[in-house]
Amino acid sequence: MRDGPSSGMGMGIDDLRWFELFNRRGTRRDFLRAGGSAAALIACGGALPARRGDRTPRFRSDPFELGVASGDPLPDGVVLWTRLGGASLAEAGTPTAPVPVRWEVAEDEAFSRMARSGESLAIPELGHSVHAEVDGLEPGRVYHYRFISGGAVSRVGRTRTAPPPGAPTDRLRFAFCSCQNFEDGYYTAFRHMANEDLDLVVHLGDYIYEGGQNQRGARPHDGPEIFSLDQYRARYALYRTDLDLQAVHAGFAWTATWDDHDVDNNYAAGVPENDQAPEAFMLRRAAAYQAYYEFMPLRRRSAPSGPEMSMYRTVAFGDLVSMKVLDTRQYRDDQACGDRFKPDCEGRWGPDRTLLGQAQEDWLLRGLHESPARWNVLAQQVMMAPLRNWDTEGRPTNSMDTWDGYPVARQRVLDVFESVRNPVVLTGDIHSSWAGDLHLGDARSPVVGAELVCSSISTNGDGYDVPAQDGFIEWNPHFKFHDERRGYVSCEVTPDRITASFRALPYVREPDAPLQTRGVLVVEEGRPGVVRDL
Ligand code: FE
Ligand code: CA
Repeated sequence: MRDGPSSGMGMGIDDLRWFELFNRRGTRRDFLRAGGSAAALIACGGALPARRGDRTPRFRSDPFELGVASGDPLPDGVVLWTRLGGASLAEAGTPTAPVPVRWEVAEDEAFSRMARSGESLAIPELGHSVHAEVDGLEPGRVYHYRFISGGAVSRVGRTRTAPPPGAPTDRLRFAFCSCQNFEDGYYTAFRHMANEDLDLVVHLGDYIYEGGQNQRGARPHDGPEIFSLDQYRARYALYRTDLDLQAVHAGFAWTATWDDHDVDNNYAAGVPENDQAPEAFMLRRAAAYQAYYEFMPLRRRSAPSGPEMSMYRTVAFGDLVSMKVLDTRQYRDDQACGDRFKPDCEGRWGPDRTLLGQAQEDWLLRGLHESPARWNVLAQQVMMAPLRNWDTEGRPTNSMDTWDGYPVARQRVLDVFESVRNPVVLTGDIHSSWAGDLHLGDARSPVVGAELVCSSISTNGDGYDVPAQDGFIEWNPHFKFHDERRGYVSCEVTPDRITASFRALPYVREPDAPLQTRGVLVVEEGRPGVVRDL
């Protein structure tokens, strides 16, 4: 946080005129939502004092049009996110200057009971993003926050701190989701999610898609396939124009991790999908990782360092849930047998093959061993259970991009699950919904955990109704639920059970679809695996 000499409220006649102008016109929906008038803003001390040497712009348009977000709650704080829009900075004549941004956290939505406030510097090197790590808050309670800069006030966001470490905790409600190809459909699922009563949203990756414009899309991407930092930034900014997505960011704290399309389809560590020179791909990865950081409510511990970013971490909720957030892309060995669904091959069984990398795997297995939490949740990307398929010649195949392509590494995790309290794996990536049992070995071996797989928010368009006899469940009897509509999973965790409601939409290529609950699956405390309830 920066410190500087204060010069009163620092708000002159010109400033007042701007506020009145925006207020009267109402062209920027949330511009003055917090105060409603210049007087109210002055009264709450919102304006930044001008400082010698500072080039704080006076914004003429809403610099907060990309919205606000919060993330990774702790018992005493959260990280608050926003990002100043490039157009507003250019209009203000300071497109490349560092800009001070004040943040405020209050107990009430009107900001009459202020809890914490401070200032962050939005620097051009990080796209004028703000990642303010707030501490000193009370555990397990709701807070409201906003940002103020250059005479502009952001919309108000809402967040919630985690319960005290190890404290008896009787409930956690969260939704998890993944895969939101902008072109494939509308984010109606997010509009419905914003109306749920949640403590947390868990995003499992494919927040953007890197591909070029698809002429058949419901709404177009901004250009061809992206490679540079500017292109990734523009792609995120496009996705963030969606008001339903903004509403879910503003409404709840997020815990986010990435998958392949946030960089390049099915990439593995330094190996791209298509022919790209290794050094060119690492530059691309660095650009993609940086843009991801710039747009997500991540703590500074995740700030990018070249083509590396530290994403795996634990988010804990009292004695109830320990959530291990994984990164199954950055450190993995290349897919075996040529990637995608392929018949088995010797390469798949290499004993040294890794999906997590040695350091992350050690951290995970040790953390699971030591965790006293009642529920041990893995928030990660790719399916852990085997999902058997058949190729056109009738040969059985395995999905080489998932844990099934790394069976020896998977076995090391399942072996540990046997002695862990209530392991539950959350998965995204495959644009369809599944819930099933994780067996220690083959189908006759003991069940040691549960896996819940969310569909996509929009990727692959409308989806379809699964025929009664589509064969998948017969071939894969460890699954109790399978659905092919778009949506997300809403979970309620109590000491006795996790209730997972699979929410879905009949269509996404047109806006305004109604919400349906397609299945409710329950994981009971002390009984590994899932039970179908609806
Ligand atoms: Fe995806
Ligand atoms: Ca994926």
